[in-house]
Parts: sequence; C-alpha cells; structure tokens
Amino acid sequence: MINIYTQEEVELLRENNLLVSKTLAEVGKNIRPGVTTLELDRIAEDFIRSHGAVPGFLGYGGFPNTLCVSVNENVVHGIPSDYVLKEGDVVSVDCGTILKGFYGDSAYTFAVGEIAPEVEQLLRVTKESLQKGAEQAVAGNRVGDISFAVQQHAEHYGYGVVRELVGHGLGRKMHESPEVPNYGRRGTGPLLKQGMVICIEPMINMGSKNVVFERDGWTVRTRDRKPSAHFEYAVAIRNGEVDVLTDFGIIEEAIGLRK
Ligand code: MG
Ligand code: MG
Repeated sequence: MINIYTQEEVELLRENNLLVSKTLAEVGKNIRPGVTTLELDRIAEDFIRSHGAVPGFLGYGGFPNTLCVSVNENVVHGIPSDYVLKEGDVVSVDCGTILKGFYGDSAYTFAVGEIAPEVEQLLRVTKESLQKGAEQAVAGNRVGDISFAVQQHAEHYGYGVVRELVGHGLGRKMHESPEVPNYGRRGTGPLLKQGMVICIEPMINMGSKNVVFERDGWTVRTRDRKPSAHFEYAVAIRNGEVDVLTDFGIIEEAIGLRK
C-alpha cells in the first residue's frame, strides 16, 4: 500500500528534509583533507540533536551511526570511521532525521579539494540525473517515468546505473512503498498521486553497474573499484507541479559551489 499524506503531513516531511539539507550543509563546510569520516558523523549528530530531532539512521536495522559516508568506490551505506579524507576523494553523505513523527532522508556527494575532471563530471551528471527524474515526479505520471529519465541521462554518458538499491516512499517510516528504481521503462510502475512522498536517489558508477556487498554487513562498493556518486531528494507528488522537499541550495551555498 502506498501512503497518501495530507498537506500538513507533507509540511512536516518538508521540515525534516530541510533539517537534513542544513545538516548536510554543516557537514559539507567541514569536508576537507585531514578530516575523518567519524568527525563528520559527530558534527551531524550534534547538529540534528541541537535542532530537537533524532538521527534517522542511528540504530536503523542496527546501523551504528548518524551518517552513511561512502568514499570513492563505496556507493552507499559506508560506516563512518577513522578514515582520513584526502585531496581528490569524493564522499557521498547520506543523512536521515526523525522529527515530529516523520522522517527526512537526503544525500549529497561532495568533492574533497580538487578532484579529477572525469570525477567532477560523474558528480554533475548524477545530480542532473536526479533532477531529470524529479521533473517526472508529478501526479498522473508513473514511477517508471522517473526511473527512465534517471537511467537515460546517466547511460548517455556511459555510466553504470546501480540496480540492487532503489529509491522509496518516505513518511512515518524511512522506507515505504513504492520502490523507485533508477532504471526502467516509461509508463510502467505505480501511478503517482497527489500526497505521495518519495525519495529519488540515483547511485551512478563511473564504470560498470556491478556492486559488491562488503563483509561489514553494510558497505556497498563498485566491483571494478571505480568511483560512484549518489544524490537523493525527497519529493512530494502534486498535481502539475514538482515539489522537492530537499534544498541543495542550502548545501551549495555553504560549500561555495557555483551553480
Ligand atoms: Mg538516504
Ligand atoms: Mg533513501
């Protein structure tokens, strides 16, 4: 069953996802060579708690931390550690919150200092894939319209679209129906209706689409060890209008990124 939320409930989801955006901005400001991923996790946890919310990932399915931090060939679900970020790394930071009974969930991939031009392109195209998917997230379309738009854009650049992990509905639980794959056919899948809230989250690999699940029980990495990028929006479905609940503008202003 796919939940339909009232406008009041959508606003609570917006509050959560804006808090996630602000948390990612705070984390982004602190991303530089020499910082450990566990330090980023502490910054995020303090920031979320100081805003009266609870980290959404901490303890979720036994996950040990506030952030999923996935560096370079790690795609998603990386566990914060004493790994020291170095110039040229790319780091996907995925963050969740619980506030007023609802969840926030968004992700952004940051560059550490100067990165190789081909990796910069991977980040740009992955974010564009998310934006192209989100443009399809209006009432009357189907989930497959989103999936198709994401896949088309990423594969146009020869990138691999991860199949094993997908986007999802968001609400009183972090993972609700429907699943939102990053590959698929137009006009297929569940019909989008006003009041649904979904997370769209392309995981795009520079090389092949194949991934490996590491023995720590969480980390997913590319099989060929080429870099991967991950961006995630929460979107409320409306009639005739795209309503993104996540605000990357807050993050990009904080890190001084040119749009
Ligand atoms: Mg997420
Ligand atoms: Mg998600």
